[in-house]
Amino acid sequence: MDTAERVLAYGGGWLDRAGPLRTDPTRLSALLGEPTTVVLALWRDRCLVDADGPVRLTAERASLVRSAASETVFLGLDGDVAVFAVDLSALPERAATEMAGAARTVDVRALVGRLDPGDAAVQAYARGLLHWHRQQRFCGTCGAPAVADGGGHMRTCTGEECGRLFFPRIEPAIIVLVEAPGRPGRCLLARHAGAAEDAFSTLAGFVEVGESLEDAVRREMAEEAGVTVTDVTYQGSQAWPFPAGLMVGFRATAGSDEVRVDGEELLEARWFTRAELRERVASGRTLGRVDAIDHRLLEDWLAAGS
Ligand SMILES: [Zn+2]
Repeated sequence: MDTAERVLAYGGGWLDRAGPLRTDPTRLSALLGEPTTVVLALWRDRCLVDADGPVRLTAERASLVRSAASETVFLGLDGDVAVFAVDLSALPERAATEMAGAARTVDVRALVGRLDPGDAAVQAYARGLLHWHRQQRFCGTCGAPAVADGGGHMRTCTGEECGRLFFPRIEPAIIVLVEAPGRPGRCLLARHAGAAEDAFSTLAGFVEVGESLEDAVRREMAEEAGVTVTDVTYQGSQAWPFPAGLMVGFRATAGSDEVRVDGEELLEARWFTRAELRERVASGRTLGRVDAIDHRLLEDWLAAGS
């Protein structure tokens, strides 16, 4: 099974996104009034949680909370049950917490591992969508306010002569496991600016305008590590709405062993054998962030050789 077929954290949510319902405001409004409907509350990118995890508002509380929410978005259907999310970011943290009947706020990434993977995916989805609404309050063309539409999956400019439509923005980034040419098998890991002394991870970068994903892999590896790569091969992707990312994983092969870091983004880069990586794991270090695709890329590479 390849990386893409196995669910990474924040993906594979249990919701049917039910796209056609987004354009049916009457139905959405009726669903919001149903007692079984689930409403999740978020505050400035954070989940509102109690001892059992993210709170699900009761119908009664949901209608009160919605009156204070800056946005209400339709996330999808869980079987017959509609799931919405509301944004309480306009309130002070304590007021938002109390209003939702929660105990505190927490980033979903701090809950991963404890939270059911499907719930983590839905919380991340809600977080990314609500974050986008807070960043797209005005039209970038005419400056008029933009208002939510389509169940919260678009915004429309209210400027009389404009009416421009905005859709949630996703910023793709590539993340690459670079292998050395020849034997023994080695992969390239780097220490990033700001990272701890011995924290090595895979190389990554944002895709630029006018680039394919593969172009971005070749450019980033050349710029950051002075490495020319070939055999750029897709490995899988991961939703990363923190705030708007999509991580796209690749493997690539370097043309030579030579590495030259830029000294800005990367402070150091070197080749690691599988034995060295296993030693690092045995001594208690993790291979990248355990909830992120770079961890998966490294695990797969380790499993592919001795
Ligand atoms: Zn406009």
